[in-house]
Amino acid sequence: MRAALRKGWCPSVLRPMASGDGLIVRVNLNNGRLSPVLARALARCAHRFGNGLFDLSARANLQLRGIGDATLSPLQSELCDLGLSETEEAPSTARNISASPLAGIDPQAILDIGPCVELLRDRLTRETILHALPAKFGFIVDDGGALSLASEKTDVSFLARRRGGVPHFLISLAGRAAGECAIDDLADAGLRIALAFLELRDAPTERMAGLVRRIGVAAIAGEAGLAPTTETPVHDRPPTAIGAYRVGGHHVLGLGVPFGRLDAAMLERLADIAEASSGELRLTPWRAILVVAVTPPDAASLADIALIFSEDDPLRAVAACPGAPDCANATTSTHEDARRLAPFARRLRARGIFVHVSGCAKGCAHPRKAPVTFIGRDGCYDLVLDGTTADKPIAAGLSGAQLNLALQQLVAKIDA
Ligand code: SF4
Repeated sequence: MRAALRKGWCPSVLRPMASGDGLIVRVNLNNGRLSPVLARALARCAHRFGNGLFDLSARANLQLRGIGDATLSPLQSELCDLGLSETEEAPSTARNISASPLAGIDPQAILDIGPCVELLRDRLTRETILHALPAKFGFIVDDGGALSLASEKTDVSFLARRRGGVPHFLISLAGRAAGECAIDDLADAGLRIALAFLELRDAPTERMAGLVRRIGVAAIAGEAGLAPTTETPVHDRPPTAIGAYRVGGHHVLGLGVPFGRLDAAMLERLADIAEASSGELRLTPWRAILVVAVTPPDAASLADIALIFSEDDPLRAVAACPGAPDCANATTSTHEDARRLAPFARRLRARGIFVHVSGCAKGCAHPRKAPVTFIGRDGCYDLVLDGTTADKPIAAGLSGAQLNLALQQLVAKIDA
């Protein structure tokens, strides 16, 4: 059952990725939703077949870490039985659809996108020609509600909008406005865009962002036959997902996951609290998990586990990838360094991410601009201001202690 292993690609159940602590298997969940039963089953899998650790991905999926060569095959069988594995008939690309985390229950939403997502998933599965899409090729379907995904960028986004009281989807390709479609046309438009992409790309690994840079949005929209739009996507900061709040008739408890890392025991506790409040878990792309429940979830019962209960928490000011020793590409302890930097980072920005600590130039944890980005290289860090890991550093070879100093100086300037 084991497929060839490669470093640096997008892992799935049948195509795991080798890393510093063993194999990584990414479980692509149905719209990021996780029942208590499924959450406990995944926690058991992490205990039995891996090192008990998970990472919450930027696409609201869970990655099991530390899978051994001998335990991969039984894990794959188990995940297959749980309905969590891609198959020949339904490859992982058919599962790469991110939907608004409160879909179906949010009174602020322009529409319930659930049926649209299912139709799109069905088209991506049935049209076998689309199985040639790159493994990372993704779709976003956003309902325009309280926890909108409009801040996220992926290959193809459908963003619900209303004009003259009539809802429609604004379509963006790699974050650039490309056209619009009627609500009922989403699956067809998604199919036409994917076919146009396959027709126009110049290499199997090219993504939509590369194609847009090479030939422009208009050429792709023309090939896909999209209706033109005068609207533009607005990529604001991610919404506030953490805290206890009401959404329609539901109680929501949003919990931050430090650097997206959680263990099997934490997942079991989350399953317990969701079950006790007649609810389920919903994963978000913002390193946060929601307990969406009928009765108020008992947040106090989670006080002893390392979750984040407020957006103001210093750890929410820093993004960090697994780093060393978990990732074979890393030479620095990103989580350790990020924890040290967090209080200074929070002083510099009250909300949102201020510092990105990346183990290497790949920038997995935060593939977008941050005010301060530290990029691990040969046991030290390079520093980029107001950019991404792809930008030119203004300083190089900084030790962990020097990172603190750099941020302390920025804090001192602001306080002066
Ligand atoms: S950014 Fe971090 S997790 Fe990603 S490959 Fe580099 S070291 Fe590994």
